[in-house]
Amino acid sequence: MNTQSINKRIRLIMELRNKGITDTNVLSAIERVPRDAFVPPQAQDQAWEDMALPIGLGQTISQPYVVAFMTQCLQLTDRDKVLEIGTGCGYQAAVLARLARRVYTIERHKNLLKRAEKRFEELNIRNITSIAADGMKGWPRINGIDQAPFHKIIVTAAARVKPPQALLDQLEVGGCMIIPVGEPGAQNLKLYRKESEEAYAVRNMMPVRFVPLLPDISDQPHDMAG
Ligand code: SAH
Repeated sequence: MNTQSINKRIRLIMELRNKGITDTNVLSAIERVPRDAFVPPQAQDQAWEDMALPIGLGQTISQPYVVAFMTQCLQLTDRDKVLEIGTGCGYQAAVLARLARRVYTIERHKNLLKRAEKRFEELNIRNITSIAADGMKGWPRINGIDQAPFHKIIVTAAARVKPPQALLDQLEVGGCMIIPVGEPGAQNLKLYRKESEEAYAVRNMMPVRFVPLLPDISDQPHDMAG
């Protein structure tokens, strides 16, 4: 790593601290996951800027501040099993993987998922399990094995009205889920805490802008947007 790249990382971490990210484990995870490995060649110059960037197929990698904020809300420990919906380029999953025991992540675009899996391999990240599926249905039973319930759930695409019921069902009692909810242009990041099998506490955390959660696997065969 050259000096310029180290400086860019330090500048980003300082910016996140100034914006209110106080959890030092989260800050050090952001510092250590090479965001440049997750963004396309044409966006390399902005890889360490605090901004969202295009990753192809009309999807985006979230702004580091939002990744840090959502991760901080989950208060992860190395005993946690986390479910992520919306793998995208895999950046958020890689950040979670540094803080949790194991990350399960679901993406509806097979092409995006393949590229994310290649990155996990190249970066030698071994505690992420990923599948192409509709994450609104939760983590499926595979070969007779259930992974639910999860201690924490993070959804990185916006639900229109409320979180999918399957995700609330797959959350452990005492666990929490962070999810953007709302119409395009009026989304709010919400933190759900499951207090019993039927009762949830909900907190509005901040206004955000995410691509929508969409049902089913995408049948878009080609990478249109690079
Ligand atoms: N966490 C990602 C950013 C995600 S962008 C990152 O760090 O790069 C949102 C992603 O959610 C997109 O890739 C989109 O295809 C995916 N998505 C939307 N609806 C989904 C669903 N029902 N199941 C799984 N993935 C979904």
